[in-house]
Amino acid sequence: MVENLKKYKKFVGAEKLGQIHERAEKLGDKHILNINSTYQGGGVAVILNSLIPLMNNLGIDVGWRILHGPPDFFITTKKFYNAIQGEKIHFTKQKQKIYLENCERFSSFTHIHHDAVIIHDIQPLPLVKFYKKRQPWIWRCHSDASHPNKEVFNYLKKNFINHYDYSVFLSKKFLQPGLKPKQVIMQPSIDPLDIKNKELTERTVNHYLNKFGVPTDKPLVCQVSRFDKWKDHFGMIKIFKKVREKVDCRLVLIGCMALDDPMGQQIYEKIIKKVSGQEDIIILNVVNDILVNALQRKASVIIQKSIMEGFGLTVSEALWKGTPVVASNVGGITEQIINGKNGYLLSPYDFDGFAARIVKLLKDSKLRATLGKQGRETVKNKFLITTHLLNWINLLNQVFEKEKKAK
Ligand code: UDP
Repeated sequence: MVENLKKYKKFVGAEKLGQIHERAEKLGDKHILNINSTYQGGGVAVILNSLIPLMNNLGIDVGWRILHGPPDFFITTKKFYNAIQGEKIHFTKQKQKIYLENCERFSSFTHIHHDAVIIHDIQPLPLVKFYKKRQPWIWRCHSDASHPNKEVFNYLKKNFINHYDYSVFLSKKFLQPGLKPKQVIMQPSIDPLDIKNKELTERTVNHYLNKFGVPTDKPLVCQVSRFDKWKDHFGMIKIFKKVREKVDCRLVLIGCMALDDPMGQQIYEKIIKKVSGQEDIIILNVVNDILVNALQRKASVIIQKSIMEGFGLTVSEALWKGTPVVASNVGGITEQIINGKNGYLLSPYDFDGFAARIVKLLKDSKLRATLGKQGRETVKNKFLITTHLLNWINLLNQVFEKEKKAK
């Protein structure tokens, strides 16, 4: 369902909506294209699914295309993604060839006559090279680029990123020295009207947990994350062992696979093997937004034990539901959690610290309520889709104004 902007008034007030309408009007004659590489799995797809219909609802023609390619291409781009997040990879000419050839092939049947192009992440990044550039191109980076692998990043920078007009990062920590395109910071958001975040009755919550085999007789500790090594499910399992020594509770790890991530199945199978026979650990491999919503509401504590993280929408999703979050102090997570106020931030390697904070919260319902209340405020003030929408509209206005002046 396409949500009409006025339905957000109860969250953000009429003034903000007025601002959005006023600034969107200037973009009424523009046709804008987004390209990414999956419509499902992971935060990018979640964001585009809310943002793009809303922009159209405001009268801006915003399109969305999905880059497709063979498994080899996605195996290669997953490695490049890992490299952006700091990993050393075997960076061969063959990988570069696979990367380029697929993008070139896609460009041969993907016609771009738009007024601006927004490219998400690294999979479609090379496309800029295969078009006669007639409009501004914007690269939106959704990864943790705080310590990119230099060899790979320099290749991407020199060959592709520097051909863009703007590059949009999630956090100040990810800005890059010596990039040609103008660098902008924009934080993402959650959609309070999406079924993943909408209010649910206690009855629906319990119904969904029951349906998917999650007993509610013990407190729940939960992480919602793609099966990806950066989300560190194995670390979370170790931490849970420590927690379980102090409090009788259950761990639920719900995950899914992004369609552009070929490694998810392997990680999932390893996790299943690891937890076999371990009491009170439930692994769910299901795509179901209401179930995610129900878990984020029912859990006493939500965890985000990432080693690296772009933003971590799951953190805001939980905070919005009044559930405190214990998470790693990496990437965009540190912008969402105010340590001790709406959750706790710890080094991803501090397993004892994680366990102690989780135990503390499990034992203290008053503390959970206080942190939870503050969490909802944090998201209301900074991370709702209306703020994100306004930021994109402002940026696009800026882009077109600059283009007009240059002509
Ligand atoms: N998600 C989901 N089901 C799952 C795991 C994740 O719906 O089993 C959603 C999650 O609720 C969030 C998004 O996928 O909306 C993940 O975004 P985030 O920024 O946390 O991480 P990413 O996957 O983009 O690295």
